[in-house]
Amino acid sequence: MHEIHIAGEAAQLALGARLAERMRPPFVLYLQGDLGCGKTTLTRGLLRALGHQGAVRSPTYTLIEPYALATTQLYHLDLYRLADPEELEYLGLRDLLETPAIWVIEWPECGGGALPPPDLQLQLGHRPDGRSLRPVATTEAGLALARALYE
Ligand code: ADP
Ligand code: MG
Repeated sequence: MHEIHIAGEAAQLALGARLAERMRPPFVLYLQGDLGCGKTTLTRGLLRALGHQGAVRSPTYTLIEPYALATTQLYHLDLYRLADPEELEYLGLRDLLETPAIWVIEWPECGGGALPPPDLQLQLGHRPDGRSLRPVATTEAGLALARALYE
């Protein structure tokens, strides 16, 4: 699938909201790309569209932030500071995975084999006039969502 250009923070939030329209649990979204390429901003747009009204902070130090939303449970992870994938054991992911939820995971490459496999990976990048996004779908649900981004 070809690259999508996202010009500005408002557009990044809107793209997150687009994802929220069709995302149903269980769903696992990986957000990949350098520091500052808009992973948390996109997550903020997604959470707001799902009805979350408070702040959306990057779980850089807590690693995981749970959100009990009207329609779904959502877990936002940022694994940038995870020293060892075994630390994930202490977060109790195994128990959390037993109930259908939406998982949004920044820096999944730091998580080793302990993470649930993705339905959709979004590869984000810096561009002089905004950000780039390339979807890589790995399940039918992921593909449906990726296609919706081009509509
Ligand atoms: P990450 O979580 O990938 O480290 P953030 O979401 O924290 O990145 O975003 C870093 C900065 O980039 C923020 O100041 C945000 O407003 C800005 N930003 C996000 N998306 C865009 C975009 N599409 N165009 C321009 N700036 C953006
Ligand atoms: Mg972030």
